[in-house]
Amino acid sequence: MSITTEELIQQRLEEERRRLAEELGVEQVERKHHERPKEHRFTASQRPHTTVLYGGLTLKHERLIHGALKGLGYNPEALACPDVAAFQLGKEYGNNGQCNPTYFTVGNLVQHLQGLEKQGMSRQEIVDKYVFVTAGACGPCRFGMYEAEYRLALRNAGFDGFRVLLFQQSGGLNQAGEADGMELNADFFLAFINALNMGDVLNDVGYQMRPFEIEPGSTDAAMDQAMETLHDVFATKRNHLLESRMGAFLKALPAVGGMAETAGKFADALVGRDYIDALADVADTLRTVRIDRTRVKPIVKITGEFWAQTTEGDGNYKMFPFLEREGAQVLVEPVGTWIMYMIHQAKQGNRDRQGVNADEAMPAAWRVDKRMAAELKARRKNAALSFAEAVFTREWNRLREALGNIPHELTDQYELQRIGHPMYNSRAGGGEGHLEVAKNIYYSNKDLCHMVLSLKPFGCMPSTQSDGVQSAVVNQYKDMIYLPVETSGEGEINAHSRVQMALGEAKVKARDEIERVLAETGRTLDEVREYAEAHPQLQDPLYKVPHTKGVIGTAATFVKHVDGLMRSGAHATAAVPAGA
Ligand code: SF4
Repeated sequence: MSITTEELIQQRLEEERRRLAEELGVEQVERKHHERPKEHRFTASQRPHTTVLYGGLTLKHERLIHGALKGLGYNPEALACPDVAAFQLGKEYGNNGQCNPTYFTVGNLVQHLQGLEKQGMSRQEIVDKYVFVTAGACGPCRFGMYEAEYRLALRNAGFDGFRVLLFQQSGGLNQAGEADGMELNADFFLAFINALNMGDVLNDVGYQMRPFEIEPGSTDAAMDQAMETLHDVFATKRNHLLESRMGAFLKALPAVGGMAETAGKFADALVGRDYIDALADVADTLRTVRIDRTRVKPIVKITGEFWAQTTEGDGNYKMFPFLEREGAQVLVEPVGTWIMYMIHQAKQGNRDRQGVNADEAMPAAWRVDKRMAAELKARRKNAALSFAEAVFTREWNRLREALGNIPHELTDQYELQRIGHPMYNSRAGGGEGHLEVAKNIYYSNKDLCHMVLSLKPFGCMPSTQSDGVQSAVVNQYKDMIYLPVETSGEGEINAHSRVQMALGEAKVKARDEIERVLAETGRTLDEVREYAEAHPQLQDPLYKVPHTKGVIGTAATFVKHVDGLMRSGAHATAAVPAGA
């Protein structure tokens, strides 16, 4: 019987392995592959008496996700923001050599479960009555290992069998799972995405208001009230469906076919007014805060690794309140950029792989029909992703509009790729890929910030890689103030003092800018402030001050705008009013 080349290679390999083992006296043991530990299923019937734990984002995102999960019929509970004690637990129970978001997030779950135990629950009760849901990926960085890390730490901490449910961040709108207690369907993802987007725009507005509030604490008080309004909307919103006129229309279209329900939900997300109307109420609440835009503050753009730039606790040394205390205006990064990045990368990957998959092999040249069919298939894939991009951008812009266009626009992924690719190959995946480099150039060159602060976790492979490239970037763009800070569980004082030093430079840049603008306009800050006091619309946090080319700071931009109004004699409401 003849054997194939492959079989021959395997046979030779086996013989050689045996020979070497005998020679070196190594015992041949049967190979056992790792298998995912068996867990109890989370079934639909368990849903009423099971608590769904989640975490890892900002407080606003988590509050809205709470509402969204409640609206979908779950009993949700957000984990507290991870602190140093959680980090220590992550180190104690997890593997060595992980990146520090792993320690913080894994330790945070263990800490929460230990807290339940201290309150008197038995471990078995905790395992039976709680599940944890989180996003997962298959790498290429350590993010792909999070699920395994959770399981390992839980087992080491004595919570063997605790259920960790995973949805794939790139898995699309329907991820039918083995745990039907958690339905990862279009309803889940649309509610989740809406909660993320609203959390993003509100975070953005909050960071633009707080440094300028006339009455200390008024922004946070108004935001808390706004969050409760939105939470209730999420908790009570009836998720679409095909009863809507748009849904019925889509269902009737043959081309939409089996996609009718998902497409209908998209349409609902496109035309539904529930969230937008709720934001109009939120806008009224925020307008009760009065702000003074003549305060001169450097704008610090936050970039870096996804988790480190998002968390609001010890995971980044509580960097955002620290910066505000030091007199800066913080420009945070929305989760929306990450969602658009994933779509962008998926499109690029589809184009790159066209014709490479076995079932897509290029037909013979004379089979024009087959070639056209293959081309159509490839185009259809990307058309669906382009549609998702358009829907997402439109939704985002509707939310911005409802808040007077005060939240920033989504950064154009194609522009980021164009800027970043020459320095950092946009096909190099893992972490933020080319985004760290591209955002540094983008925000500095478009007059959007005085300084870029990149928060990079200790042990993060992609961040270490982009750090090497950033030195070339800084060399090329001499005016840039860029500071990378490595965040580990410890070292807060050192990190804060490094930030203070770079911030000193940014403050000088902001002061030089305001002096230049005051000289150009012939105004004084007192004069501009008095004019704003006489025109209360100008103290409205949702009053849109147009951007002036070459001007970065809020105070400098405001002086330019007020100078224009004073010269023309136009009333302040002549500028774009909130909600327009
Ligand atoms: S991007 Fe860095 S910090 Fe984040 S999961 Fe990957 S390796 Fe860890």
